[in-house]
Amino acid sequence: MYLPDLSVYPNALDSANLRAVGWLDSEHEFTRGIAPTRVIDALREILLSNRDVNKMRGTHCCEFCADTIFGKKYVPQSREAFRDYLDKTTIYLEHEGKRKLLGMSEIWIPSPSGIIWAAPSLIYHYSVAHRYLPPQAFQDAVRVRPYKRESDKIGVK
Ligand SMILES: [Zn+2]
Repeated sequence: MYLPDLSVYPNALDSANLRAVGWLDSEHEFTRGIAPTRVIDALREILLSNRDVNKMRGTHCCEFCADTIFGKKYVPQSREAFRDYLDKTTIYLEHEGKRKLLGMSEIWIPSPSGIIWAAPSLIYHYSVAHRYLPPQAFQDAVRVRPYKRESDKIGVK
């Protein structure tokens, strides 16, 4: 599902304060750059601590990886071809022994202005692998939100 960055996020009962970030597809250009480490670390932390929301059955593959591997507009023509397609385009976040399937949930980040940023979990992969640079307002919200690592919790070393 493509949504322009900063547009109203439509998949909620009350979308007034929800804004879309990172809903990319291979048909639309996006802003490229190197996202700050702190933003990448925070997104990874949210995902690996299962604070993602709107989990659904089934996954969305990475269209950019699919285009690179199989070519644009490729459609698998057999069960085996489809399985191969899924194997090669389903994205996992792997970090320090943890593994998280991406493409089946969202990250919602509140900001002090009252705006809530709604991003697909694939935003992490898009930023790391495809140099997607999220809007500055989203980066600011991710950066300033208080988050703790597991090791910051009392009693956890
Ligand atoms: Zn990809």
